[in-house]
Amino acid sequence: MKYLLVTGGSRGIGRAVCVKMASLGWNVLINYASNAARAQETLDAVCAFGVQAGLLPFDVTDAAAVNAAIGGWQAAHPEDYIAALVNNAGVRDDNLLIWMEPDAWRKVLSTTLDGFYNVTRAVLQPMVLSKWGRIVNMASLSGLKGLPGQANYSAAKGGLIAATKALAQEVARKKVTVNSVAPGFIRTDMVEGLDEAELRKTIPAARFGEPEEVAALVAFLLSEEAAYITGECIGIDGGL
Ligand code: NAP
Repeated sequence: MKYLLVTGGSRGIGRAVCVKMASLGWNVLINYASNAARAQETLDAVCAFGVQAGLLPFDVTDAAAVNAAIGGWQAAHPEDYIAALVNNAGVRDDNLLIWMEPDAWRKVLSTTLDGFYNVTRAVLQPMVLSKWGRIVNMASLSGLKGLPGQANYSAAKGGLIAATKALAQEVARKKVTVNSVAPGFIRTDMVEGLDEAELRKTIPAARFGEPEEVAALVAFLLSEEAAYITGECIGIDGGL
């Protein structure tokens, strides 16, 4: 059986992707870092669609933990493989560069870039051998434009967009597509504390996006119909 693995699936955009894909009949593995209660809520929502599902907690920045979790799952499921991956786990820790401490720089880059490397490498071989795979990387408008106060986050997401384009060319012949999605402001825990009323004035659509809207785009990129789209970065930002 084919499974989808979503990193950071406990909340926000990752949860919406898990639920959307379960509604389309996909079996789903839900990764998270520490928030077991929220991950269980996602699992319950996914299981309501009658698909196979499980929790796979690990810190995406910890290569040994990633390999142990994914290797352990694969060993326990020899007939199954992870055919689709959404590298969605991400954090932000904003500050002007002049005030940005080394920890904030490293944590944000590591979660996005080491996370992409660790998790993608752990699932890529079965996709290539099976000659079918889908990878979607959760980038950001910040990685395309650069946003003040987000030098760490912009660098991480810009790097992720570039890695997407490189890997896409490596595996296209094996029928594995690799794309990225660049959301603007999406209503999740991550944007709590931002001045929504003020920011809305800058968004042509005059509102924040919903996680389900991002999930619909991800679902298309994970579908059979999207087989000829690879190496792309698709914005979803209300015109921002
Ligand atoms: P969120 O609500 O803050 O959720 C973040 C998710 O990532 C949680 O599931 C969290 O797990 C997980 N996570 C964080 N660090 C992790 C780690 N080291 N290992 C494993 N999982 C980890 O964020 P969101 O808004 O849904 O964002 C999801 C993705 O979209 C991120 O990559 C973000 O950069 C990107 N994005 C968001 C927006 C936006 O406006 N919301 C815009 C552009 C891009 P726990 O629950 O265990 O903490």
